[in-house]
Amino acid sequence: MVEKFDAIVIGAGPSGNAATYTLAKQGLKVLQLERGEYPGAKNVQGGIMYSHELEKIIPDFRDDCPTERHIIEQRVWLLGDDSYVGTNYRSEGFNTDAPNRYTIIRANIDKWWAERIRKVGGLQICETTVTELIRDASGRVTGVRTDREGGEIHADVVIMADGVNALLAKRAGMQAEAAPENVALAVKEILFIDPELIQQRFGIKEEEGVVIEIMGKVTKGMVGTAFLYTNKESLTIGIGCLISDFKTGSCPPYRMLEDLKNHPVIKPLIEGAEMKEYAAHMIPEGGYKAVPQLYGDGWMVVGDAAHFNNAAHREGSNLAMASGRMAAETVIGLHQAGRPYSAANLAAYKKKLDDSFIMKDLKKYRELPGIMHGNKQFFGAYPDEITAAAHNWFTVDSVDKKSKEKEIMKSFIKRRSVMGLVGDAIKLVRAVR
Ligand code: FAD
Repeated sequence: MVEKFDAIVIGAGPSGNAATYTLAKQGLKVLQLERGEYPGAKNVQGGIMYSHELEKIIPDFRDDCPTERHIIEQRVWLLGDDSYVGTNYRSEGFNTDAPNRYTIIRANIDKWWAERIRKVGGLQICETTVTELIRDASGRVTGVRTDREGGEIHADVVIMADGVNALLAKRAGMQAEAAPENVALAVKEILFIDPELIQQRFGIKEEEGVVIEIMGKVTKGMVGTAFLYTNKESLTIGIGCLISDFKTGSCPPYRMLEDLKNHPVIKPLIEGAEMKEYAAHMIPEGGYKAVPQLYGDGWMVVGDAAHFNNAAHREGSNLAMASGRMAAETVIGLHQAGRPYSAANLAAYKKKLDDSFIMKDLKKYRELPGIMHGNKQFFGAYPDEITAAAHNWFTVDSVDKKSKEKEIMKSFIKRRSVMGLVGDAIKLVRAVR
């Protein structure tokens, strides 16, 4: 007899884990399938983990969750060729018993999730790739086919949490292929280093962390960002750009990462560190306009597979956990009411998303991806001009300040023209309003 579950969750990333845990905790019979050899084997994240969403799902997560450092300082740097202009925000207020953000190493976190899921009765099976959704004559999803022999499994509802490629939804005709300008390719390294050096170089204590978000010349005029995060005994450094830009640009991702590591303001921070791990992964960056159909008869899609990623704020894992939780809560509500998992009933999931920060934030930044993609000056001309202006302004050379202002203005106008500058300012406001 073919085994049947209340729900099948495909994927053991943060979205699938949140869904599986929430369902299992309410006593539903849930099966989670993961293609990796172990949870986290296939996963890549910078990574910053935001505790607010995790806390809603597992309030006591701090008791045993293997986080790295809690973040007390956020830096945002715009890099020039040999300089940076930046802002830092540091607060003792982040040194609390319940920190808001942590640096993490994903493989450790995903293994921890697996243990928590097991404790509430969820069944997670690894080394099992779902190859296809099973549908009945009416088109309703009734289960999955896997790469295991006789691997056909049935369920009342299937939650697709299979990440950015979303191959299952694409194969089933539920999603179109993502456009290359809607997906970034990021590469990152974990660099092992003496914790004392981390603490000295970043001015922090043992448990404290600093994260640096980076833009500017390092992306060679392509739409992209970079990052440097402090872990307990390592640093994570990475860079990512739109796939459409990598296709036409002349710098491959691995060389871009090498250039970032050798940048004069980055190099002293990572000096002496040893590379332990290299990884590459895609990030969905098309925003609101790229969000696909999110539910149908017997199925829902969550996390990166649903294109839930707020690139402007580098938030992904929290949108993944929140959408996984909301999908599970929708299932639980229908299960308790004895109602079927029809498209009409699963529309409640979309309503939860619309009412939450997920869709509100994606909507706020809906013009950002298109504007960035079409206006490369924000990644080339402006980092040049802004760092040159700072250099001029902070060089004390007996030139009066009014003349300096004029020189700076003249340089911006020469590069972009008055109309160009006004147009760029309008575009920036449209991108973030
Ligand atoms: P994933 O984490 O991708 O998990 C999908 C899972 O499904 C995987 O385990 C995969 O093996 C499995 N799977 C796929 N297909 C199948 C199949 N057919 N059968 C069975 N299993 C399958 N977010 C942040 O919040 N903070 C950060 O600092 C941050 N930094 C990032 C840095 C980088 C370099 C990258 C690439 C991403 C970063 N993100 C960050 C984004 C974040 O990692 C994602 O938003 C998040 O992992 C999405 O979770 P998910 O569960 O939807 O997908």
